[in-house]
Amino acid sequence: AKKVQAEMNVEGITKEDLSPETVADFAGQAVVSRLLMREFPGVALVGEESSADLKSETGGEALATVVRYVKEIEADATEESVCEWIDHGTGEPTDRYWTLDPIDGTKGYLRGGQYAVALSLVEDGAIKLGVLGCPNLGPACSLDGSGPGVILAAVRGQGAWFRGFNDGADFAQLHVSPCDEVAKARMLRSLVSAHTNTDQIDTLVKSMGLAGEPVSLDSQAKYALLAAGEGELLFRLLSSKQPDYEEKIWDQAAGVVVVEEAGGTITDLSGKKLDFTQGRTLAKNRGICASNGILHEAALEALAKLS
Ligand code: AMP
Ligand code: MG
Repeated sequence: AKKVQAEMNVEGITKEDLSPETVADFAGQAVVSRLLMREFPGVALVGEESSADLKSETGGEALATVVRYVKEIEADATEESVCEWIDHGTGEPTDRYWTLDPIDGTKGYLRGGQYAVALSLVEDGAIKLGVLGCPNLGPACSLDGSGPGVILAAVRGQGAWFRGFNDGADFAQLHVSPCDEVAKARMLRSLVSAHTNTDQIDTLVKSMGLAGEPVSLDSQAKYALLAAGEGELLFRLLSSKQPDYEEKIWDQAAGVVVVEEAGGTITDLSGKKLDFTQGRTLAKNRGICASNGILHEAALEALAKLS
């Protein structure tokens, strides 16, 4: 993803129908899917992309470009095998499946901002494991600078851990912020205003008496910051344009287990547990309320007062 971003943002190379985001999405799904097919042949993968989209959206030129990038990791890749690997990722959510967002936060990716590669294993509706790659987060999962990137991993019952991309150090454990004063809480929100409700964000900042401005960034990198104690509150509110929006499982699962294993709490906006047994979306939930745990009740109370 980093390589595609670095090479394809060059002016003149990017065409509308062959965006770096398209190439990185398909190449990422092909590579991860191939690895999972090899290591866990019987487990379905529920990914965001299919090769039909690749073929119809962008034509043969896009496929050739995707294959060129995949070959750098999987040397035997061909147009046929890359499509086959991508389509391994069109599985259905059953009793045991992986779910992958090859590029979460595509707007951030295109801007050179925050994005995440998110992979999770779900068994009988319980998230067992989650991994987030956040290539543009700074050391210690902070927003300072742009990189070198961090990888976060959580296994249910075994804590949440992170390491810098290139530092070769051991994984260090993640803990949410100990902040117990609502006024001092830092709120994390989507940068894309269509993915939340900015009027309600403003209302919450006032009603909760938050001293600081919300921090806006794309993707599940928000969950990375929450897990690392770099924020206390994270709301995915429903945009007035799409009040019935259902969250996609690959946009949430990895981040949810990382935050929970770091000591945080995640529910929907009414305090209901997230239900990962409903197929490709969280059809039984509305929005997301995530916190450092300590401030969760206060967050839900403030949400309940929104009209
Ligand atoms: P964010 O990075 O917080 O802006 O969230 C990015 C994710 O929001 C994308 O992966 C989309 O799948 C998802 N999304 C798309 N439309 C909406 C919507 N109307 N409300 C909430 N999330 C959305
Ligand atoms: Mg996404």
